[in-house]
Amino acid sequence: MAIEFQDYYETLGVPRDASQQDIKKAYRRLARKHHPDLHADQKDKEKAEKKIKKINEAYEVLGDPEKKSKYDRLGANWQQGDEFNYRDFAQQQGAGHGGFRFYSSTGGAGAAGFSDFFSAIFEGWGQEGPSRAQDAFHGAGTRWQPQWEPRRGMDAEAELRVSLEEIYRRSEKTVQLTAQGFCPNCGGTGIVGNSFCPQCAGSGQIPEIKNLKIKVPPDVRPGSKIRLKGQGGSSATGTPGDLYLKIKLIPHPVFTLQGDNLEADLILSPWQAALGDKIEVPTLDGTVRLVVPPQTRRGKKLRLARKGLAQRGGGRGDIIYKAAIDLPAQVSAEEKELYRQLAKLHAKG
Ligand SMILES: [Zn+2]
Repeated sequence: MAIEFQDYYETLGVPRDASQQDIKKAYRRLARKHHPDLHADQKDKEKAEKKIKKINEAYEVLGDPEKKSKYDRLGANWQQGDEFNYRDFAQQQGAGHGGFRFYSSTGGAGAAGFSDFFSAIFEGWGQEGPSRAQDAFHGAGTRWQPQWEPRRGMDAEAELRVSLEEIYRRSEKTVQLTAQGFCPNCGGTGIVGNSFCPQCAGSGQIPEIKNLKIKVPPDVRPGSKIRLKGQGGSSATGTPGDLYLKIKLIPHPVFTLQGDNLEADLILSPWQAALGDKIEVPTLDGTVRLVVPPQTRRGKKLRLARKGLAQRGGGRGDIIYKAAIDLPAQVSAEEKELYRQLAKLHAKG
């Protein structure tokens, strides 16, 4: 089956290397210029409707990076004016993927009325197994009626600020965020009748506020992303997008995170460092007693095993305390005298 190739770049009047911003600008300008409501005359109105359908179709493809790249790959397979062979293309590309689905329907014309070319390239996206389009084309003599469905809901991304304690304890957090959902007024098409939907200004999307309870996974690290399936923007067809939460660590007053290990300074008095001691040290889960051996010098690392963060695939990091020696804020006359004796002793030795 051969289908007429649609030059979407020509339709929007943009060069092949146009940026997404330029494509959007060109689309907006053309959509305003050819708005069917601008024409009182019925024939002009119909012409404008045809034109706007072409413009919408072109923007549907070029304005979506994934579809655009698929479309751009066609370049090698056609010559201007040639008919386009869908099956060759389908064989080269294998099964498609993405957010659009079409199904064969005898009732109800396609909401957007896109071309056979568009249907051939983009139908079957998001389906498993062989594209339904191929089946449809095999059925000779059947009129293929594409039914446009809005894409899968938008994926959303947000930042989740967590403390080390919340990671350690697998705490539950409540977050409020905004995702882009489909506009119920226009069913996500952006078009009502022949006009842009007034509720979403033709974008097909409106903001949705979500309140979510999230259990912080114990093996997350700063920068890692949690995927919450189906918690992104809603969709008219019921396949919502996903939500990605990027972990941002709230700075801790005591510990810094080094991989799975926690590090902290351990401030010792001179006699603790010289003679050794048993002292209370903080962890993310209360305090524990740590043995400081005699002759502990500055920078010595004392390790508390398995008190750090959970590791991916089991196990746990350590806490590493780094010895630092400091004087008490107040030193009495008696203590000063003892330091003098210490100094004398050391000078002799
Ligand atoms: Zn709308």
